[in-house]
Amino acid sequence: MPATPEELNSRIAVTPEPNASEAMLTVTDLQKSYGDIRALRGVTLKVGKGEVVAICGRSGSGKSTLIRCVNYLEVPDHGVIQVGPVVVEAGPMTRRLRQRIRELRMHTGMVFQSFNLFPHRTVLENVTEGLTVVKRMSVGAANEIGERLLEDVGLASKRDVYPNRLSGGQQQRVAIARALAMNPDLLLVDEPTSALDPELIGEVLTVLRRLAESGTTMVIVTHELGFAVDVADRLIYLDNGSLLEQGHPRELVRNPQTASFRKFLESVAKP
Ligand code: ADP
Ligand code: MG
Repeated sequence: MPATPEELNSRIAVTPEPNASEAMLTVTDLQKSYGDIRALRGVTLKVGKGEVVAICGRSGSGKSTLIRCVNYLEVPDHGVIQVGPVVVEAGPMTRRLRQRIRELRMHTGMVFQSFNLFPHRTVLENVTEGLTVVKRMSVGAANEIGERLLEDVGLASKRDVYPNRLSGGQQQRVAIARALAMNPDLLLVDEPTSALDPELIGEVLTVLRRLAESGTTMVIVTHELGFAVDVADRLIYLDNGSLLEQGHPRELVRNPQTASFRKFLESVAKP
């Protein structure tokens, strides 16, 4: 039976979509193949301003391909990506498309599983590189921003050391500060804790949780389902290149709609 307007209103009042009307990211019919492998089979999703979306799924389900296509680290075969005001439609690599991709990257920050810091630059230089090189900011102004961000991730005292002197957790926090330095509309985070020893996972998740609470729009690929349920506004389950399920994390995990997601949940459940 269709819901009455009163019922709809009460639902809306109980579970407000964070600024759902104002999309920060729109992905439309995204497709990507590697030879015969269809890594993405037409994925469509919207992320509202300030929304935190967690993506889970088996290894090889297309999670990394999806977030790498969002900023064109991988070039999709088909589909439209919109981040903030920038719209990029897949097609031949023309000058115009290249320019759009540059604009897209000005609006997105990315954090990788393997940190990807510059080994020959200090912590502070890693954070400020984008500001001085891409935004052509003066070193003084860039350092001011960099120092504030290092403070935010608890690493102010490490500003002048090189990344190889840091633990994995500290390196990942530097990588998060570096991504934030460009003041992105959207932060893309790919398995931020999978390369870390268990005792270092918490410090990275704490930083991400704080970002989520402060209204940063984020898409996070993560195996930490507990974190996703706690922090994300929405959970997405990818299977074999398709978006199979999405919804409120706690409800989705409690009530999987497909056998595939049910099995996945059993496989990640801690004994
Ligand atoms: P996930 O991040 O969910 O583990 P990926 O997005 O990395 O999955 O991979 C999706 C599929 O695409 C997998 O079958 C993977 O082997 C394939 N794939 C990813 N990147 C490449 C690549 N550069 N070349 C060939 N196949 C790739
Ligand atoms: Mg991956």
